[in-house]
Amino acid sequence: MPTALSNNEVPLRILVVEDEESYREALSAGLAKEGYQVELASDGSEGLRVFAENPPDLVLLDVLLPGVPGTEVCRRMRALAPVPVIMVSALDSEVDIVLGLELGAADYITKPYHLRELTARIQAVLRRVSPPPIGLPVVSGRGVPSVPEIVVAGPVRIDFARREVTASGRTVHLSRREFDLLALLLSPPGQVRTRDELIDRLWSGRDLADTRTLDTHIRRLRVKLENDPADPHYLVTVRGVGFRFDAEGRGEQPHEHQGHRDDRSHAVEET
Ligand code: CA
Repeated sequence: MPTALSNNEVPLRILVVEDEESYREALSAGLAKEGYQVELASDGSEGLRVFAENPPDLVLLDVLLPGVPGTEVCRRMRALAPVPVIMVSALDSEVDIVLGLELGAADYITKPYHLRELTARIQAVLRRVSPPPIGLPVVSGRGVPSVPEIVVAGPVRIDFARREVTASGRTVHLSRREFDLLALLLSPPGQVRTRDELIDRLWSGRDLADTRTLDTHIRRLRVKLENDPADPHYLVTVRGVGFRFDAEGRGEQPHEHQGHRDDRSHAVEET
């Protein structure tokens, strides 16, 4: 999976600092399956030692740890190297989130979470660290970045160089932001893009842009691309995460909904 590879095609290393064995095992298996190289530490001291010896590409850091607390581990890691840290916790009060972000955490996720959501966050954070140009983030399997000029996904055809889009053969006129939004969702098609990532990439952190602005652009794209904008089959919402473009036009997938108890095979409860 290209997103788990660095620019020179080496698997990205994720250091997981987690005291609960069930989480360590689930994350180790789940992230390895996504193509990441996973290193495990069961407390803060071990995590700091591994980190100092060989800084990873990203750290997944539990807040509630025995010994050195996660917040302190985060502070010390950030002082050692500019590696993004995603903090994980059962705490979800705003105070804890603000504290984590003040300590330099790149993102914050609360337990229990779905592996799909976690990997989407990881990808978003890694992309933020070294963002590829819009429309051109596809990497081939041989270490040569391939720059597809044209991508066809379902009825939609996008020409990145000419900035032209057709749907079922007819030309679609898009604003600059609408084009960039569609370009991100088609790079490659099927990739889940989180709301934060889309807002970051499209409005580069401008205060004006919020989730409602994004929704407005999504709605406009749906009007221009979908047969029934009220029942989108291609520009699909991934609840609680963001959006993806489904080239097969299957619409929203039930297993992508958060909160379906019987489909949370990757979610583990904090005990
Ligand atoms: Ca814990």
